[in-house]
Amino acid sequence: MDVHESVLELVGGTPLVRLRTPGGEGSAALYAKLEYLSAGGSVKDRIGLHMIEQAERDGLLRPGGTVVEATSGNTGAGLAMVAAAKGYRAVLVVPDKTSAEKVATLRGFGAEVVVRRSGLPAEDPENVFNTAARIAEETPGSWLAGQYDNPANPGAHYATTGPEIWRQTDGRVTHLVACVGTGGTISGTGRYLKEVSGGAVQVTGADPVASVYSGGDGRPYFVEATGHVRHPETVDDVWPTSYHQDVVDELVAVSDRDSLLTVRQLAREQGLMVGGSSGLAVAAAQRVAAGLGPESLVVVILPDSGRQYLSKYFNDAWLLRLGFLDGEPGAARVGDAV
Ligand code: PMP
Repeated sequence: MDVHESVLELVGGTPLVRLRTPGGEGSAALYAKLEYLSAGGSVKDRIGLHMIEQAERDGLLRPGGTVVEATSGNTGAGLAMVAAAKGYRAVLVVPDKTSAEKVATLRGFGAEVVVRRSGLPAEDPENVFNTAARIAEETPGSWLAGQYDNPANPGAHYATTGPEIWRQTDGRVTHLVACVGTGGTISGTGRYLKEVSGGAVQVTGADPVASVYSGGDGRPYFVEATGHVRHPETVDDVWPTSYHQDVVDELVAVSDRDSLLTVRQLAREQGLMVGGSSGLAVAAAQRVAAGLGPESLVVVILPDSGRQYLSKYFNDAWLLRLGFLDGEPGAARVGDAV
């Protein structure tokens, strides 16, 4: 029989599909890794599984235990799916800007969801991170996943995403392009590909224009779940230890407008319905590929599906109101009534 014993066997193992590029045959080949085809719908399934199994090996999570994390979406879904399949309880603390669909997904997997106000400063005991830490402290048998500082986050990509790309391209990959949120994806995948290729694979981070990773001023932007925003009261930015800057050769900054128009083009012209950070990554990858010849092979990671964002990126009224379709770029600010 060609069957699987559990949904956990369907985490990762995602395909690469060729994208059409403006330069056509004469330019580098560009392949997209479709993480929305993982069982829980995003690149974060991999870390949900890997972090939980590492915690089991380390004796931090035992039968009957509780998984706790501060998350606004995909990591929560990955953890909640794996917790459900393995019989753990999950408590997820989400900011109040999280879409109703994402909260419903977490609850659908049986997780308990605690909602806290978005954007509270690091020292506020009520922010999502401090709330999650407190719940973990107060709940016997619980384990805080801590994706921003957990080595099993980049470790998941070193163990799976990197080797998959190397095998799928017969070792012909020359460039990797990925978003940088916690940094886990680019750090683990990039480190593996650099090691296995003797340093030949070039790694490019795709970053929202305003994100502090690529030197932006940290003001909010519309593409969700990637980059790094500075809180107005935060003086020093604390960068996650899941982000290994030594792996990243360059960062390409992409505007909200280019990211969201790329999302719509991918759906309408190539049949790929993906999220905002995928549009961001593809826009960056197209720039990387444009400067390369046909001997190069670029792989870009597409983190999740567009179906989580139907009311935004695929809603003409939303895009028009914010000036992304034909108005002033950047005319709207995050937080404006839409
Ligand atoms: N895009 C989406 C949609 C995500 O959920 C994430 C994870 N927060 C990222 C990009 C960034 O991935 P990473 O945290 O591995 O850097």
